[in-house]
Amino acid sequence: MKNLDIAVIGSGIGGSLISALNKNKDLILFEKDKNLGGCASTFKRNAAYFNAGATTFVGYENNHPIKNIFDKVGIIPNILESKIAIRTIQNKKIVDRVQDFEEFLTNLNSVYYHKNNRIFWQTIKDIDEKFWKLKNIYYAKYSLNAYVKTVFFIRELIKEFGFLLFKTADGYINEILPNITKEYKSFINAQLLITLQTNSKDLSLLAMSLGLAYPFHKVFYSLGGMGKIIEDLLKDVNVQNKEEIISIKKEANNYRLISTKDEYLASKVILNSAIFESSKLFLDENIKKYYDKFSFSDQSAFVVYLKLDTREKLLHHYQIILEDNIPNCISNSFFISISDINDEKLSKDGYSITISSHSKAIFWEGLTKDEYEAKKELTQNFIIKEFLNNFENIKQENIKTLFSATSKTFYRYINRSNCGGKPITTKTIFQLPSCNTPFEGLYNVGDTIFAGQGWPGVAIGVDVLNKELNKI
Ligand SMILES: Cc1cc2nc3c(=O)[nH]c(=O)nc-3n(C[C@H](O)[C@H](O)[C@H](O)COP(=O)(O)OP(=O)(O)OC[C@H]3O[C@@H](n4cnc5c(N)ncnc54)[C@H](O)[C@@H]3O)c2cc1C
Repeated sequence: MKNLDIAVIGSGIGGSLISALNKNKDLILFEKDKNLGGCASTFKRNAAYFNAGATTFVGYENNHPIKNIFDKVGIIPNILESKIAIRTIQNKKIVDRVQDFEEFLTNLNSVYYHKNNRIFWQTIKDIDEKFWKLKNIYYAKYSLNAYVKTVFFIRELIKEFGFLLFKTADGYINEILPNITKEYKSFINAQLLITLQTNSKDLSLLAMSLGLAYPFHKVFYSLGGMGKIIEDLLKDVNVQNKEEIISIKKEANNYRLISTKDEYLASKVILNSAIFESSKLFLDENIKKYYDKFSFSDQSAFVVYLKLDTREKLLHHYQIILEDNIPNCISNSFFISISDINDEKLSKDGYSITISSHSKAIFWEGLTKDEYEAKKELTQNFIIKEFLNNFENIKQENIKTLFSATSKTFYRYINRSNCGGKPITTKTIFQLPSCNTPFEGLYNVGDTIFAGQGWPGVAIGVDVLNKELNKI
């Protein structure tokens, strides 16, 4: 039995950032998998490396929570800027999302012309810029101090955004871009699905702005894979990988943790497991009940991994938008991430490619092994066919390694079949779990709690958690 102050359960972006910030404390980070990073890990298969999920790194800029955290930890990530953040291709028509507003607008107008494009996209950019300048981003519960800070944040939001806060995304699109074409709307929704897990019909204007504006920030590629950033963050942290926490029991002043290898007593526990998966860890009925309140959000990913034997010059990111949904997916688009040609680890013996689309866990349940494999192959082949359709110089023979992952794969490796958290919509915003809980010393971090998914969303949650944890 070992005694410690803080047990962090999971090395996803959230678990890793909070551990790095508190690395000087008596802290252990437990990770079930061999690789660190969860959805943002990099893994090895057949002597080649692949990014499991996340590939874009956004928010490493002054006054942004991500940069602030990296500076506090004393880490400079080994990153390269992606000058063209994403190249979207729809019906062979190309729009490059670049940071420069005028250049982007020219690109956009050449494909999706609308006389109000400038007003629409300038508003999106302005709202996003204002959001990241807010001083008091906070959302926590269960103590007077937390409620006061949350109210302060809401007051600041209302002061900055006023009536815009109450506008819906679709309302705004219809008002500013009347008679928008189906193709143009599909271009907008395809990006919202990647960043916010839903489309404009469920979102507020504020959420849509944050989702659409990310390529107006610098977008980075991580050399050596996304997992390299996580490994760098955890360099001085006591990490126990391949050690899963299987049960937790609250005692008078501690939590008793049983892992696959040992037993621990910790005064504080930070869970980086998806919120829907946390209940089953606890032996205490009241803690179980608390976690059971958060209903499962069935948003998952279908991911294809391939190794491509070509020296063709390729960008880091493409998004292909199709007419109809991909089989066994809930999206008509897929996102392609390609290793940088000079990345010695990922691009050794060809490009390493991660292609992802949105699916549901339920699509992959209740199947026999043969049914599951057949369904997976159908989806994979469909995506590959469309991928090749959009890259004239890449041929089937260039594909050297090919395999894919569903919600089942994600569950097997990182204990979650939902990938991407619950969409923050106009309806769900106040049901979002906070980083603290009604139980002294028990905290949450990650993309299923405030403020949502990806590096920027999880980093905001980490920032609030760090203040709650250290009573700042
Ligand atoms: C396909 C895909 C593409 C994406 N692309 C991007 C992108 O380009 N850019 C971006 O910013 N975001 C992207 N995202 C979103 C981003 O990856 C996630 O929001 C983020 O990585 C989630 O971090 P998290 O802190 O919630 O941890 P998770 O990734 O959920 O990791 C949790 C970790 O906890 C571990 N764990 C769970 N239970 C236990 C236990 N009992 N004991 C020990 N360990 C445990 C798991 O093994 C896992 O490693 C993408 C996501 C997916 C799925």
